[in-house]
Amino acid sequence: MADVLELFTTLTDEQAEMRQTCRRYVDRVLAPFVAADREREWDFDPAQRLTAEVLEEADRAGLRALGVPEAYGGVALEEGTEAQTFALISAELARGDVGVADKLVQNWKVAVLLRSLAPASLQDEWFARYMADPQFLMAHCLTEPRGASDRWLPYNAPEANMDTRAVLEDGHWRIDGRKQFISNGYDASLYVVYANTDDAVGMLQGTSSFLVPRDTPGLEVTRCNETIGGRYMNNGEIVFDGCRVSEDHLLAHNDALGKAGIYFHPGKIMQAAKNMGIGMAAFEQTVAFVHDRVQGGKVLIEHQAVAIRVAEMATKLHAVAAMLQRAAKAVDERRPDANAVCDMVKVFASHQILEVCTHAMELHGGYGAMLEVGIEKYLRDASVYLHMDATTDISNFRIARALFPQTAGAYAGRG
Ligand SMILES: Cc1cc2nc3c(=O)[nH]c(=O)nc-3n(C[C@H](O)[C@H](O)[C@H](O)COP(=O)(O)OP(=O)(O)OC[C@H]3O[C@@H](n4cnc5c(N)ncnc54)[C@H](O)[C@@H]3O)c2cc1C
Repeated sequence: MADVLELFTTLTDEQAEMRQTCRRYVDRVLAPFVAADREREWDFDPAQRLTAEVLEEADRAGLRALGVPEAYGGVALEEGTEAQTFALISAELARGDVGVADKLVQNWKVAVLLRSLAPASLQDEWFARYMADPQFLMAHCLTEPRGASDRWLPYNAPEANMDTRAVLEDGHWRIDGRKQFISNGYDASLYVVYANTDDAVGMLQGTSSFLVPRDTPGLEVTRCNETIGGRYMNNGEIVFDGCRVSEDHLLAHNDALGKAGIYFHPGKIMQAAKNMGIGMAAFEQTVAFVHDRVQGGKVLIEHQAVAIRVAEMATKLHAVAAMLQRAAKAVDERRPDANAVCDMVKVFASHQILEVCTHAMELHGGYGAMLEVGIEKYLRDASVYLHMDATTDISNFRIARALFPQTAGAYAGRG
């Protein structure tokens, strides 16, 4: 049983310490908070769902500072195992709650992007502000109402360019457009925004990225999306109407989507890892239940059909864990197959963990459907991962293109 709940079989000292920190936070703060009031995530005032204490405690444990350079008080992970460590701790946090894990992971991912792309003056200002405020969140704005799949393929033709546009005027970039489905979008203090800066070429050559503080005139957060799962992360929609940032807020000019790999590679690993964390929690709770509940005169685990389901859950978790470790290693070692394996593990995890959660629902009988028990939450939380960082079909196209660059059809995108 213990092995199934270990994402990696061997750990560096740093990883063992980080895992311990995460487990302490999850067991003492996060899991009790979620269990104390299961209706809380359904509060339709997004500001009321989470107490300030949840992020304050994460801050005290050092869990907000990952990805931030040490010069600003951040926690630097060992470079050669960074993606693997991010995977490990993303899964551990998601065992407690995947929405809160998402809030923190999003911050780490944007911090990693900023430490690579933002000019020193912006890093000085924004990392300092981030570190000073436990409630400070960051968001990464790519998706628009017209859709995100074209960006993920990519469909690199001018007609598919982003509708959000940025034009340089009098030493300022003027941004106009709309972004939707953005993680942390509702309550972020700082946004990375992608916009078209050259209509004549495809998005790979004509998309730029910008750092946009929330209080910039012309930026308006227009809604919090009510999602099926991960509800402690407030997903939002943001409108830019004549939003002006000074010229130095440019992060990448025209090649922003190429540079976004800094964010996406470890990002997909963390998506799969958070999903794994949901599966680990569903498994843990189910194992306890089948060893306690009696039907037909014996505990459930003594019924053969129940044992088969539990064994399947364990096998699926083992398979996802093995693939995650391999994919994270490929990112850390900057191997050429990193692109393909990141997509593979994200897709594989999204299907396997949904099945793990379905078994958990089956094995809990009627309790599986009861809000106060928490099993239905795992199924809802896992369902969101089919669409995060590209849909399953689009991810499979990307895998086919990586495997067969010469022969994969036009469906796999035009680079
Ligand atoms: C909880 C959540 C959090 C998110 N967080 C962020 C975030 O932080 N930042 C961000 O920028 N975005 C975010 N997204 C957006 C996410 O990346 C997109 O929803 C996803 O990439 C799919 O894009 P879409 O919703 O526009 O669907 P569409 O692109 O409209 O796709 C709809 C359907 O059409 C299929 N399809 C599309 N094109 C093709 C094609 N050429 N061939 C065959 N089939 C095709 C798709 O596979 C899918 O089944 C988030 C989404 C969710 C649900």
